[in-house]
Formats: sequence, structure tokens, C-alpha cells
Amino acid sequence: MEDEKRNVYIELTQGFAAMKEELAEENPIRAAGYGMIGDIYGQAAEASERGDPVAWISFGVPPEIFLAMDIVPICDVALGILGSFPGVVQGYVDLANELVPDYICSTNRLPLGLALAGDIPHPDVLVVQNNPCDSIMGTDPAISRYFGLPFYGISTPYTDSEAGYQYVASEMKKAVLWLEEHTGRKMDIDRLREVMKHSNRAHEVLLKLNKLAMKVPCPFAMRESQLDYVLFLHIAGKPELVDFLEGVYKDTQDRIAGKTPLPIEEKLRLVWTYAMPAYDPVGGIFDWLEEEHGAINIIYMNNNIIVEPTEDLSDYDSIMKALAKKSLAMPMSRECRGPMESWLNSSLDMVRDYKADGAVFAGHAGCKANWAVAKLVKDAIQEQYGVPTVNIELDFIDSRLTPTDELIKRFDDFLPLVAEAKKKRTQG
Ligand code: SF4
Repeated sequence: MEDEKRNVYIELTQGFAAMKEELAEENPIRAAGYGMIGDIYGQAAEASERGDPVAWISFGVPPEIFLAMDIVPICDVALGILGSFPGVVQGYVDLANELVPDYICSTNRLPLGLALAGDIPHPDVLVVQNNPCDSIMGTDPAISRYFGLPFYGISTPYTDSEAGYQYVASEMKKAVLWLEEHTGRKMDIDRLREVMKHSNRAHEVLLKLNKLAMKVPCPFAMRESQLDYVLFLHIAGKPELVDFLEGVYKDTQDRIAGKTPLPIEEKLRLVWTYAMPAYDPVGGIFDWLEEEHGAINIIYMNNNIIVEPTEDLSDYDSIMKALAKKSLAMPMSRECRGPMESWLNSSLDMVRDYKADGAVFAGHAGCKANWAVAKLVKDAIQEQYGVPTVNIELDFIDSRLTPTDELIKRFDDFLPLVAEAKKKRTQG
């Protein structure tokens, strides 16, 4: 009998359904979030099966456009979430080396490897922004060319300005026309307006949640919220995201009011100014930091979403300008685009706003451009706030480079410095 064809979308759906079930009793609201992530990939699998369009998009490309056009958006770089399941990504990342150099970032090599292995349905189109890195621009066009898939590139400016927003809005309008031509789906302004209302509401609730996370003690830990970014990359604009976030908000208020327990007895507060080990998302290093050191991990760069809702949904032009603005403010586009100050200011804001005692720059090995700022940011955080930073090299999705044991050693060295610096600051 022939082996059944592997479909990683289906495996992700099943994997997250299992995670939902496991967490259901302890934390039903967060468990629902896992279920929603599973559903994203389930819908992609079903759409591919039916022959409905699926688009692979990059970080800053707004999912709202696709949801309004009935196209399933899948952020191909976020397929790195597969790293949550031990031993799955390595073979695909290595397979991609057949086509692109092995110094290309593994999160970009993963979708290519999946496509080469034939273990994921090919997307119908790819829509990619020219940020945050050359690595994306080097890989997605290669996927497009190798498999003969239509590709559209949205150009974004180096810095933010009114003219830049108008420019990106015009790029997005051209992308919509291109999508209409290549998928047969039409943009419906009323549908887009409806999607934007849900997206606005989701961002509004998230901003309120961010404020709650700034409180001391912090009412929820990053290990609970870290996959919210994946939800925003795919379903900002769907009402279920709003319902989920409102549930989290209410639950968090209950914790603050003392009706339900806080995540830990907080001794030290850590922010991650870059990403976090996606290969170790549940349990592992985060549990260890909490249990051994009372160190709560509050937020990481990709979860630090500061997009303001847009009031003006009156016409197509104003909506597209709002989406342009949003796309440039989303994590990765915000920090990794433009001058060094983009990253620096975002990191300093995180340390200040979340009242961090220590900062963690978990730098991806394949991410050369971002390593360029590591030392500058570390020094600036120390000078301005007297807060130490540890720079750790890892591969977000592949535990082979820095396994959890190695991370533990690094934190064992780092946390006494954090505690000492906190003592000094508190004693004035
Ligand atoms: S980790 Fe760095 S190189 Fe990889 S996708 Fe992100 S920004 Fe690009």
C-alpha cells in the first residue's frame, strides 16, 4: 500500500489540537488560542484541497487584505512554529541547502525545504515585502521561480513618513489588482471595512493587554502569550481573534484583582529584545527561569505589537493607507527596517515600559543584519537604565545550535548579574 502523502498543515492542526487539549483544564482561554492556531493551518489544508487560493505572505503583509478577498494567508516564515514539535524541522532546513546556501536563515529555508520535500501544498501565490531582511528576499523569489509560482513584491521605504505611507498604500493597491488577476478573487470594500473593524478591535484590546503586562507583578507570562503574534499574522480581521483577546483581558483583570492566582511569585523581570527559542516554547527554558530564579519573561520583540487602531474606514484609500502604516509598525518591519535607531528605540522602550530587570537578545545565527546592532543596544540599555543584557546566539527553530541545557548555562551566569544590578538600582 502506498504511504499517505504527508501534509504539514494537517500535522500542525493536529499538533495544536493536542496542545489545546493538554492545556484545557489548567488554562482554558490560552488553550483556545492553541486551537485557533491549529485552525489556521486546518483552513489552509482545506482550501488547498478544494482548490481555493492560499497565499504565502511575509511578516508585514497585512492578512486583512487576503481575508477580505477570501484568500487564506499563511505567513511562510511563521511556519517556524513547527519547531515547537521536536525533530520536525531539521530535515527540511537541511534539504533546502540543495537550492540555497546554508548561511541563509533557517526560518526561510524551512518553507523551501517543505516545498522541496512535497510535504506542504504549494501556495497559489506569494506576496512578500522587501523587509525585514535580504534573507526573505533571497528565498521567497527562489521558491517562486523554482516551482513556477506567481510572486508579488511590495516595496517599503527605509524610514517612516507621510509620503512613505502613501507609497506603501499605492504598492498594496497594486498588489490587490495583481491578486485579483492571479486568484480570480475580487476585493469587496464593504467586506474589507468589516474585516478592518475586527482588526481594529483586536489591536485595541491588545494595546490594553500590553498595559496590563507592564504592571508589577506582571499578570501573565510570555509563555502564555508568545503565540499571539502568530494569530495576528494570520487572522487579524476575524471576530474570533477579538473574542479570544477579550477573554484573555478579562482573565488578566481577574488575576490582578486577586480572584485567580498570578503566574509566579515574581523576583526578576526579563524582556527579550529579539525573538525567543521557538523550539522551546512550552516548558523548557521558560519554566526553568520561573521555577529556579523567579524570573518572569514578559514580552519578546515579535509579540511587542504597538499598532494603533485606525478610525477612518470611510473609503478604500484611507483603509489602504491605514494598512500601509500598520504593516510598517508590525514587529520585524518596525525594528529591522531603516537605521539602527529603529531597533535601539524599540528595545529601550521595552526595557523602560515593561520595567525590565534584565534584557535578552536571543539572536538568530542566520540573521546577520540584526547582529550588527546587538552590542550597541546592549550598551545603550546598560547606560540608560542600568539593566544588563545577555546576547545569546541561537537558531529560533532548530535546537541543535543552542539546546535548552546550553541556554540554562548562559542564564545561570547571567541572572546573578541581573539580581545584583536590580539591588543597586533599588538602593539608589
Ligand atoms: S531571523 Fe533574521 S534573517 Fe531570518 S527571517 Fe527573521 S529577520 Fe530575516
